[in-house]
Amino acid sequence: PSGAALEALQHADVAALLPRPAAESDKYRRGVVGIAAGSARYPGAAVLAVSGALRGGAGAVRYVGPAGQAVIARFPETLVSDRGPHRAGRVQAWVVGPGAGDDADTVAEVLAEDVPVLIDADGLRLADPGAVRARTAPTLMTPHAGEAAALLGVAREEVEEARLSSVRELAARYGATVLLKGSTTLVAAADGGPVRVNPTGTPWLATAGSGDVLSGLAGSLLAAGLPALDAGSVAAYLHGLAGRFASDGAPAGAHDVAEAIPEAWRDVR
Ligand code: AMP
Ligand code: MG
Repeated sequence: PSGAALEALQHADVAALLPRPAAESDKYRRGVVGIAAGSARYPGAAVLAVSGALRGGAGAVRYVGPAGQAVIARFPETLVSDRGPHRAGRVQAWVVGPGAGDDADTVAEVLAEDVPVLIDADGLRLADPGAVRARTAPTLMTPHAGEAAALLGVAREEVEEARLSSVRELAARYGATVLLKGSTTLVAAADGGPVRVNPTGTPWLATAGSGDVLSGLAGSLLAAGLPALDAGSVAAYLHGLAGRFASDGAPAGAHDVAEAIPEAWRDVR
């Protein structure tokens, strides 16, 4: 109902939103997602973001950054470029930030692109708030509580105690869609409309690299043409289901979660 502050995400809604290739689709029409992530110190974040992106519905994944060799070794279908985002070739949506270290230039370059951009992890810290607000294409930010607290300039506990107002405040401040990760993931648009609550997930998802998989997955959905609010909420839903399937009551690594995304997809579809 309109006016409600919260909206639980339903299985059927997610099913209706999943991108499906049309009979005449080619990979470019399905969307190309660009991943600008990873660093010499954190090459694995790039691999995990790409792993999520490959299972998100885009037709191709393009990687730019210093972890190209590690990415290709694991996922030979990735289009790896040694140029910056601006000269990487056609990209319909960008993911920037996972494991990015201190590469502020790449973040700024991606924010200047006139396509949807997902900002996660180090990218959240490195992004100039004015540059985010100045964007006209959609922006999706995916902080966990600690990252959200740093952006708001408050203690992490304050965000944990007021998750709904925090996600709304961030969305309003940045003029962006914000997905606040955690035991209950919330997705808020900048317009102050109902905040989506993700019902899937498991505490087994609290494992290193899990968020990197989510960012790639959501970026791929953006590239496939979903609006930011839908891309974020569908990604959270699939990621939560994938976490359940991957762990099934036992510990699982982030790469296992990525590998379970197709099972989550089939379950929803
Ligand atoms: P990150 O902190 O960036 O690695 O992301 C962690 C991922 O795991 C996010 O998708 C969170 O929503 C999810 N997550 C973390 N803790 C929990 C929890 N207690 N229950 C469900 N999901 C969680
Ligand atoms: Mg993270």
